[in-house]
Amino acid sequence: MRTAYEDSEQPDRPFRRFLRRNLSLIAFFGVSVVAMIGVYLYFSPASGIAEVVAAGSTTGALSAPFDKRVPPKPVLQRLAQSPGPVRIGIISGHKGNDSGSVCADGLTEAEVNENIAVRVVAALQARGIATDLLTEFDPRLDGYVGTALVSIHADSCDYINDQATGFKIAGSGITDSSALSICVEEAYRQATQMSYHANTITPDMTDYQAFRRISPGVPAIIIEIGFLNLDRPMLTEQPDRVAGGITDGVWCYLDQIRGGVSYAPPAAAPPGDGG
Ligand SMILES: [Zn+2]
Repeated sequence: MRTAYEDSEQPDRPFRRFLRRNLSLIAFFGVSVVAMIGVYLYFSPASGIAEVVAAGSTTGALSAPFDKRVPPKPVLQRLAQSPGPVRIGIISGHKGNDSGSVCADGLTEAEVNENIAVRVVAALQARGIATDLLTEFDPRLDGYVGTALVSIHADSCDYINDQATGFKIAGSGITDSSALSICVEEAYRQATQMSYHANTITPDMTDYQAFRRISPGVPAIIIEIGFLNLDRPMLTEQPDRVAGGITDGVWCYLDQIRGGVSYAPPAAAPPGDGG
């Protein structure tokens, strides 16, 4: 038979076992509480300072004025004023100057670029947009005023490696051209199903001559539509598909600056259709 003493000790045992098992945790909590109280006391201002700070006075040691300087934001007026006339410039890369990259069989970058550029210009004009077809060093580029400028180039015809395929885009460093760049990148990828080849963007692209010549404030990009070697079938046999990607990209950008009305993106061309 159990004694009364043993019975009374019975509920005490699990509690002590709990204490023993969690000694380090309990010690940690204890130290934490002491540390938090210490931090609280250390950083609490002497009585009265908090009220002075809240009142906005600058006399207290910890006080600071509560007004925050916010840089003025440009106000975008989409509806209050009618948009200026839309005008797009398309540069046919190397045209009027040199041939650009040349393939072993004589195909030149300049003729591939031009084949695309004229189609982009025709497609934009068919949609009612005033579009200029420009040569590489076109005199009209000096101080060119337009809604956007797109220069069309293509990459080397030399076989470099199996990764030398895909397109890339560089925007002007003078005028923010990211919206135009994003639109064309997305539309071009959709239309051609080509990959974006970001790691070979050269200073020739980012510091492109036309970026410095056109009027500041005109968004401008240069697109390398693909490599003449591995992407040649797409660039030469499906030019309407390639041009369609650029056209859709420009249209997407125009749609954005118009305020996103009245434009539904056309479905991407199914892979394999000829052009
Ligand atoms: Zn080129």
